[in-house]
Amino acid sequence: MELPHPLTGELFGSPVPPGAGWPGDPAVRGTRVARDADEVVRLARTGELHELDARVSVCRACPRLVEWREDVAVSKRKSFANQPYWGRPIPGWGADEPRILIAGLAPAANGGNRTGRVFTGDRSGDWLFASLYRVGTRMIAAVRCAPPANKPTPAERDTCAPWYNRELELVLPTTKAIVCLGKFGFDALLTALAALGATVPKPRPKFGHAAEYLIKTPHGDLTVLASFHPSQQNTFTGKLTEPMLDQVLTRAKTLAGLDGPAIAG
Ligand code: SF4
Repeated sequence: MELPHPLTGELFGSPVPPGAGWPGDPAVRGTRVARDADEVVRLARTGELHELDARVSVCRACPRLVEWREDVAVSKRKSFANQPYWGRPIPGWGADEPRILIAGLAPAANGGNRTGRVFTGDRSGDWLFASLYRVGTRMIAAVRCAPPANKPTPAERDTCAPWYNRELELVLPTTKAIVCLGKFGFDALLTALAALGATVPKPRPKFGHAAEYLIKTPHGDLTVLASFHPSQQNTFTGKLTEPMLDQVLTRAKTLAGLDGPAIAG
């Protein structure tokens, strides 16, 4: 059944077919589809960021995640029952030549899996995204499909890694600071940076809120900053407060030479 997009009113099926006109859909009907881990490795070898986004957004390499994301897209949370769900992998979002990267774990079943963007797309999310875009930021996730219980398996993480590594490689030349949301995102980022030839200290840097580490990469030095993940569990319990997140983002802006009003406004 087709339902109206909440912002444009245009009708879409769930999951959204590639090239159907969904706002920001990087894919077209003929975008090449990876159906297993080997095809992810092969198709991630594009030198063009937009084409990488397109290929990520139609990937079907992890059977368990494909089934989960598409089942959720059809069954829907009750409060979004009248909306179409993206139901596809979430590509990176933001500037093509970012100075700051924000690296997370994976999209949420009724968040990014519904809207096609890493955040849910409510009004505050829209403001945050516009601001992040203006200051030259890109958001990426280590695993691109919403996993059951927010926990991808190690095999799923490894299957998705070529998408992640390639995207990092394409944007590293301009990137000065990377903010990692949560320990999984932090560990996945260090693994990816090491695979791209960066010098990751041994023993491995430890995750902790506001911890920061200078990493040497083939493209120059950058700083990795850690933050607790802004999950409902962390924000409801007060483990992560808005000032705590602002502190890390403001530090990233300073490191990137983008001092000015706080990113999140
Ligand atoms: Fe493809 Fe990554 Fe989704 Fe697996 S998690 S289906 S590799 S986009």
